[in-house]
Amino acid sequence: MKISTDGLVIREQNIKEQDKLITVLTRSNGVIRAFVHGAKSIKSPKSTATGLLTYSRFVFYKSRESYIIDECSAKEVFMPLRRDIEKLALAQYFCELLEALSPEDDNAEEQLRLVLNSLYFLCQDTRHPVLIKSILELRLLTLSGYMPNLVCCDGCACFEHEHMNFLPENGILVCGDCIGSYKQRHIETGFGVTLAMRHCIYSEFNKLFAFDLSKEALPVLEYVTEEYMSAHIQRKFKALEFYKQIRTFDTGKKSGESG
Ligand SMILES: [Zn+2]
Repeated sequence: MKISTDGLVIREQNIKEQDKLITVLTRSNGVIRAFVHGAKSIKSPKSTATGLLTYSRFVFYKSRESYIIDECSAKEVFMPLRRDIEKLALAQYFCELLEALSPEDDNAEEQLRLVLNSLYFLCQDTRHPVLIKSILELRLLTLSGYMPNLVCCDGCACFEHEHMNFLPENGILVCGDCIGSYKQRHIETGFGVTLAMRHCIYSEFNKLFAFDLSKEALPVLEYVTEEYMSAHIQRKFKALEFYKQIRTFDTGKKSGESG
C-alpha cells in the first residue's frame, strides 16, 4: 500500500552504511517511522528530503511490518536553523515533544501546522524564542487532551485579577482573593501572563503567533508552562535540558511560586 502525504522529519537515525530510519510527523497519518534506503549517498535525491527538520513531500510504501520511503522531495529546509546552534537546539526539542505527543495512524494536520509555523517564526527572528516555545507547548498540550481551564477564577468566577494564580497540577486559575482557601501549589501569573496563556490556548490558529509579551513576563510564562507540562507529562526531554544549557540570553528569576 502506498501513502502520499507531506511531513516534517523529526528524528533521523543511521542504521547501516547507506540506510537510515527516520521519524516523520505526517499530515495524514501522524507519526510514522520509515526506512530510507541509500539515503546517505550524496548523489541520492532522498538525502536532503529525509534530513532532520526538513519538510517534504513523501510517498511511503507500507509493508506488513514497516514503512519504506518510496519517493520524496524537500519543500522547506529551514536553513536559518542550521546556522544557529541555539535555534537548532530549540527546534530539536520541538521535535522530541511532537514525537511524544502526536498521534500515530491518525490525522495530525494541526500538530504539523503548529510546528511548521513555530519553525518559521524561529527562522524569522520576529518573536522571542521563549514566546514561540511556550505557544507550541501550551497549544500542543491542548491538542493532546491536556487543556487547562483558563476561563476564570475557579473560586469566584472573576475573569481578571491583578494577582491571578495558576495551579499547575489542577490546570485552573484562582484569583488573589480566593487563593487562601486552596492548598495546592500555585504560581502567580498576574494579568499579562494569564492573558498570554489564554491566547495560546483559545485563540484562532491564524492569530496564534500575533501577540507579544514583555521581557520581564516571558520567564514567568516559560516557567508556568513547563511546570504545567511536567505535572501532566511524566517524562523529561533531553533536548530541552540541552537547550537550557547552551542558550545565552538571560531568562531572569523563576517568578513567585508558593503554596
Ligand atoms: Zn476568585
